[in-house]
Amino acid sequence: MSMEMIRPNPYSDDRVKRKTTVVTGAGGFIGGHLVADLLERGFTDVRAVDVKPRERWFQLHEGVHNVEADLTRRDACMDVLEGAEHVYNLAADMGGMGFIENYKAACMLNVLINTHLLEAAREHGVERFFFSSSACVYNLAKQQDADIAPLREEDAYPAMPEDGYGWEKLFSERMCRHFREDYGVETRVARYHNVYGPLGSYDGGREKAPAALCRKVAEVKLGQSDGILIWGDGNQTRSFMYIDDCVLGTQLIMHSDIREPINLGSDELVTIDELVDIIEGAAGVRVGREYDPTKPRGVNGRNSDNTRILQRLGWEPSIRLDEGIARTYEWIERQVRGAGVETGRDVFTAA
Ligand code: NAD
Repeated sequence: MSMEMIRPNPYSDDRVKRKTTVVTGAGGFIGGHLVADLLERGFTDVRAVDVKPRERWFQLHEGVHNVEADLTRRDACMDVLEGAEHVYNLAADMGGMGFIENYKAACMLNVLINTHLLEAAREHGVERFFFSSSACVYNLAKQQDADIAPLREEDAYPAMPEDGYGWEKLFSERMCRHFREDYGVETRVARYHNVYGPLGSYDGGREKAPAALCRKVAEVKLGQSDGILIWGDGNQTRSFMYIDDCVLGTQLIMHSDIREPINLGSDELVTIDELVDIIEGAAGVRVGREYDPTKPRGVNGRNSDNTRILQRLGWEPSIRLDEGIARTYEWIERQVRGAGVETGRDVFTAA
């Protein structure tokens, strides 16, 4: 990793930027940042879709066709992909471990979104279709130890993924493959490993570990609580990818010839306790820690093997964890202070 490295450019041909490009889940964390980046790169025909009412989108951009639609419905998928050429499918009912361990049926119902969108892509002759899969597809047996070997793409099989959310993602990956093979829909699949950054969920039950821990540390700093509760024993290991790296990698994969699912994640492995150390550094405070082993804690260890994406696309994470956490913490502390509560959109437009 180095800040001096040349960032790969996903667009050898600028005509791509005039294609009708649909981003689903655009009111969410990654989708909102992707739309922002497409606009910055000069895309002229972007359609942003989410089931949430617009006032709850994390980012709402001008110059974009913003559509509220429930994509579990076939008719809605047919409508929103009318005339679409490129589709980034980021819509999912999802959250951190607290959500995916307690709402397995809801996670599995995401299959309706993916099925109907693929059918609509086929019907409308979409040229490229990106699906956001997850490291939760990996076989649980490979993630028993905190001192884990990074997960390679082939480690998804034989299949024994995370129950609910992971099984649905793995099934939908296969569906992408077969829609490509049987119907010629050019699908691309990234397996995201823990993405974090500003303008995403940080409380309410869907937030993931980095945002939840930033919020808890901010609450201590601002005198709203006495200490933080860590789910598990703090020794679980993970890697975390900053949102800007995710958004670039997503576009590189979309426009590549890589047809098999590929990892998109950081390989900077830390324990949850080390993550808290980094957040404390960003906040400039030390906090008391308690541990609750009865709370959802996920697998013992998970890391991304980035050999393939580095070789094929020249992509590697460019933002170190301490740097990304500093940016994320700053935004979350502002939310906790009440500067832009609820959606983040207020903060975004005011910033
Ligand atoms: P997010 O929850 O912030 O965004 C998902 C968006 O999808 C939400 O705004 C939600 O309202 C929308 N959505 C849900 N159901 C919908 C429906 N029926 N119709 C239309 N929109 C609907 O999550 P995110 O972190 O931005 O994740 C985006 C994608 O990346 C998801 O597919 C997720 O599973 C995948 N992913 C994320 C991570 C991560 O660390 N954030 C890791 C692995 C995979």
